[in-house]
Amino acid sequence: MIAKGNIYDLEAEVIYNDLCCYCGACGAFCKEYICYECEKPTTKEKCYEIHGACYDFCPRTFFPILELDKKIFGAVREDKALGCYKEIVTAKAKDSEIGEKSQDGGIVTALLTFALEKEVIDSAVVSKTSESEAWTPEAIVATSKEEIISGAGSKYTISPTIMGVREAFDGGYKNVALVGVPCQIQAMTNIQNSKNFNVGGDRVNLKIGLMCTESFDRDALIAKLSENNVKLEDVTKFDITKGKFYAYTKDGEVAIPIKEMKSCMRDGCKFCFDFAAEFGDISVGSIGSESGWSTVIVRTEAGKKLMDDAQKAGVIDVKEMSDGAIEPLRKLATRKKTENIGNILGKISEVRLLNLAVSGEDLKTLLI
Ligand SMILES: Cc1cc2nc3c(=O)[nH]c(=O)nc-3n(C[C@H](O)[C@H](O)[C@H](O)COP(=O)(O)OP(=O)(O)OC[C@H]3O[C@@H](n4cnc5c(N)ncnc54)[C@H](O)[C@@H]3O)c2cc1C
Repeated sequence: MIAKGNIYDLEAEVIYNDLCCYCGACGAFCKEYICYECEKPTTKEKCYEIHGACYDFCPRTFFPILELDKKIFGAVREDKALGCYKEIVTAKAKDSEIGEKSQDGGIVTALLTFALEKEVIDSAVVSKTSESEAWTPEAIVATSKEEIISGAGSKYTISPTIMGVREAFDGGYKNVALVGVPCQIQAMTNIQNSKNFNVGGDRVNLKIGLMCTESFDRDALIAKLSENNVKLEDVTKFDITKGKFYAYTKDGEVAIPIKEMKSCMRDGCKFCFDFAAEFGDISVGSIGSESGWSTVIVRTEAGKKLMDDAQKAGVIDVKEMSDGAIEPLRKLATRKKTENIGNILGKISEVRLLNLAVSGEDLKTLLI
């Protein structure tokens, strides 16, 4: 059974219930009624829809993991921590400009520029830092190598990235790549697989997911940096590695234990069970790889072909990853599930929210 609802159900179950992940899926295809204020969806005027796309597309109202596993990957996952995949490798971009500007191995940026050059995609929705608000990601529709590179690097706050997909569709692009954190990839997957609303989601033909433990509330991040005598606008790079959150400025670096950063976590992240961006064609992170390399989970045929072609063309270096190197990745993914499914179960008993299409108790056995 598919849950149905409208904007008022979305408000009650998700938005006022602090579950919203601010992905932009509800507003992207309902610009008439929904806009975003204070990092939350809000209604511009009264909506009379009984069943809205906003509710249908939201990854926090309904996300049938096992059904989607079968539909997209043709199997139910054997690896509960990481989802379905073909292989896990460690890789690095060869282009020195990409290497310099990117977060880790530059794999996301290298694959996008390669895909654009080979006309696999005609545009890419990437997140660059806003010009008006330091370190706030802003989705842009990149159609050149320069624009793709302008999005390189991780921003640890969040923005409604799916609005960028709508912009790409409005711009007439037909082969769009999307880069996003797991909730954004889930949102796009929901849009593409909706049984009720067809907005042409198949025009997104490449989804690159970023591994993610959490994102931060902007005000809380500013306050935490200030405790450490750092101003957000002075930061040149952020990184999370070996249990610490690093902020680099021209004067040096500040390292904050990641446990201390938990107080900055966005509320909506506490209900996410997906570390490894389980529904991307490819998922990319740093954990398990040596510095300057990326850990890449290759999930679909399209993802595999792109990786193989990029390697053959000499765009990226690829190495096998040992089971020992993959273990920390699996451990972190399992830890996120264990911690957050506890939080989801708490909400289910209170508000009958089905984040997944299985009963609350079944979640534990299925996913951990
Ligand atoms: C909030 C967040 C948390 C993360 N947590 C972890 C973690 O715990 N462990 C781990 O191994 N990896 C984590 N990552 C992934 C890691 O930081 C790198 O993004 C990843 O390794 C890709 O590196 P790269 O050099 O290939 O990317 P690059 O080539 O630098 O490209 C990065 C891409 O990410 C996009 N991007 C950056 N910030 C955002 C954002 N906020 N929202 C949407 N898209 C964005 C950019 O548009 C760009 O296309 C996280 C990323 C983010 C954004």
